Amino acid sequence: MPLNLTESRKLQHRAEQLLPGGVDSPVRAFRAVGGDPPFITHAEGAYLYDADGNRYLDYFGSWGPMILGHAFPPVVQAIQQAATRSASFGASTAAESDLAELVRRCVPSIGKLRFVSSGTEACMTAIRLARGFTGRKFVIKFEGCYHGHSDAMLVKAGSGVATLGIPGSAGVPEETAMHTIALPFNDLEAIRAAFVARPQEIACVIVEPVVGNAGTIPPNPGYLEGLRALTREHGALLILDEVMTGFRVSLGGAQQLYNIQPDLTTLGKIIGGGLPCAAFGGRADIMDHLAPVGPVYQAGTLSGNPLAMAAGIATLNELIAREHEIYPALERTTASIAEGVSKIARESGVDLTTNRVGSMFTWFFTAQTVTNYTDAAKSNTSAFGHFHRAMLEAGVWLPPSQYEAAFVSTAHGQREIDITLEAARKALATVTTN
Ligand code: PMP
Repeated sequence: MPLNLTESRKLQHRAEQLLPGGVDSPVRAFRAVGGDPPFITHAEGAYLYDADGNRYLDYFGSWGPMILGHAFPPVVQAIQQAATRSASFGASTAAESDLAELVRRCVPSIGKLRFVSSGTEACMTAIRLARGFTGRKFVIKFEGCYHGHSDAMLVKAGSGVATLGIPGSAGVPEETAMHTIALPFNDLEAIRAAFVARPQEIACVIVEPVVGNAGTIPPNPGYLEGLRALTREHGALLILDEVMTGFRVSLGGAQQLYNIQPDLTTLGKIIGGGLPCAAFGGRADIMDHLAPVGPVYQAGTLSGNPLAMAAGIATLNELIAREHEIYPALERTTASIAEGVSKIARESGVDLTTNRVGSMFTWFFTAQTVTNYTDAAKSNTSAFGHFHRAMLEAGVWLPPSQYEAAFVSTAHGQREIDITLEAARKALATVTTN
């Protein structure tokens, strides 16, 4: 049955007069899947509620942060209590060190860190720091990986850039992007050749250790180890962008899961429990190149914001206290959902490839394996769009792009598995891929 989106449609019309595309972040506009984006009024646990009173089972979790579900009571209380003491000081608080200690406990490769307000800032500054530390200019990234919207990182980027089919971005001078080298993910030969072509010139390699922004793509066995060995051999830093995977694929992120020791790590999303917060950190000798100790500049009016720190502390405390219960449960629930739908697709004759690491996954509408962005881009995006709409009408909200990861929270359980499989069975019966 078509959704009643009368109120949302009105709100979208109003927003379009005020905000380009009616949104503050492009993928929210539903351009890739079509139809009207529902306007949210509130959310609780695994469910979102819109302005027309529709309820949706949430599989994007604010694009990753909401691992404990929406309005998780300890997080709500922490924010409320912090707010009564004022929303911001622009001066140091003990809470910054409290959260920093929790982060270091989870991610031992981090000696020192700095809090910022977005993943974009974290990645942009980690790269500046790598360049400042090594005295080199070139940066290697991978096709389909997204490291925020700083100029140099929009080359062959994933997420909304891939969704909208934009090759890069207008407004980025060639001169700004000329030191960014984009290579295919999961291809060690390509990176070996890049190091040989530019000896002593590559400052760092930045990578999503499990790609989320081209849809979910796990690293091939030995790939991350290979990146670690090659960067070390050539005097370049290895930056793991764990904005999405941090505290998600395990408490210690992908670096714990795959046992990789990066020089620098970027974190975001879960670290702020849904408030604007991110961080970058790593070897203390590198981090001490940052101002005011060193010559690499970075600053932020709202960095280390007390509400964000409170939400982050409450979130990490919960994940740390219940680590051995939470991560195995997320694994089981997500496996049932991801592989359950995969099986239904096979029975329905729909070409579907399921990639999953822990509680992040993607259903690619293709029969082929997906190991890099080129593979992902072979997906049938119109079949995905059809599936997305059919699922939304059945009350299940998947990320509105083939090139995004879906996320499961601790609030998803057996009831949510059943709802999803039932919705998928009906939706897939109406999808054709060939
Ligand atoms: N890196 C990765 C891996 C991301 O997934 C994102 C956001 N989806 C970013 C960086 C940028 O973070 P933000 O949107 O907070 O700027």
